[in-house]
Amino acid sequence: MGRLHDKTALVTGASRGIGRAIALRLARDGAVVAVNYATNEAAAKETVALIEAAGGRAFAAQAQLGAPGSVAGLLAAVEAGLVELTGSRTLDVLVNNAAATGFAGAGPDAVTEDIIDNCYLVNAKAPFFLIQQALALIPDGGRVINISSGVTHSTFPQQIAYAMSKGALEQITLHLAPVLAARGITVNTVAPGVTDNGDPVFDNPEAVERMAALSVFNRVGEVAEVADIVAFVASADARWMTGAFVDATGGTLLS
Ligand code: NAP
Repeated sequence: MGRLHDKTALVTGASRGIGRAIALRLARDGAVVAVNYATNEAAAKETVALIEAAGGRAFAAQAQLGAPGSVAGLLAAVEAGLVELTGSRTLDVLVNNAAATGFAGAGPDAVTEDIIDNCYLVNAKAPFFLIQQALALIPDGGRVINISSGVTHSTFPQQIAYAMSKGALEQITLHLAPVLAARGITVNTVAPGVTDNGDPVFDNPEAVERMAALSVFNRVGEVAEVADIVAFVASADARWMTGAFVDATGGTLLS
């Protein structure tokens, strides 16, 4: 029996990349998984199909986080899906994985108010209110996991807006952990480094070589490697860890 047997999880941004891998892994551990996506319904359905093919249970839940009303809409869809599949509205694990990332190259001189607003909306404001409103569904002993990035502990001026918003996300972890400890709910940050999420850049050998050099293992990460770390944080084995910054960068922050 998997270590998340009888548990449920919501993974935001689970149609592709790291979020999909987290959804697959939590489902493999026994959780019923709500697979959130923004626009790519086909990819979300594929995540659900992959989970079901492996014997797990999941459903897709659309919400463009950052848009007005999106948090309430997502939670309504998640609650309905959970009731349908489990007969209960309990949500044991919330993984805030979805992020605004599509502005690579916007160095300090090129950052606009729109870029900053979008980063903060999706990467910090949406996770905050998702946690706040999901707490009605999360039982004592639940898990909140915020997916940040190694950029908060290193210097990448080309990603300054993204890094600022991920820093804000980590503050959510830090300041909610003591509040939610009263209910045995842990709140942790997991920070990936460069991870092959299927983006075409990972088909470019020179780019991959440059990115690989950032890790002490001299390679880029696989999405399953981040998901395995998230699965540990989601499990009962991690019950004595809260407010933590969990490094999933393949040693990138050592150099
Ligand atoms: P990705 O492959 O680009 O996938 C993004 C996922 O998020 C998709 O499922 C997308 O849904 C969804 N999404 C995007 N905007 C959304 C929104 N506003 N509301 C709801 N869903 C939204 O991303 P990734 O590389 O796997 O990254 C996953 C997480 O890891 C992010 O928090 C990212 O910051 C972090 N991270 C990634 C890396 C890396 O190298 N990959 C490194 C450090 C940190 P659709 O399919 O519908 O568009």
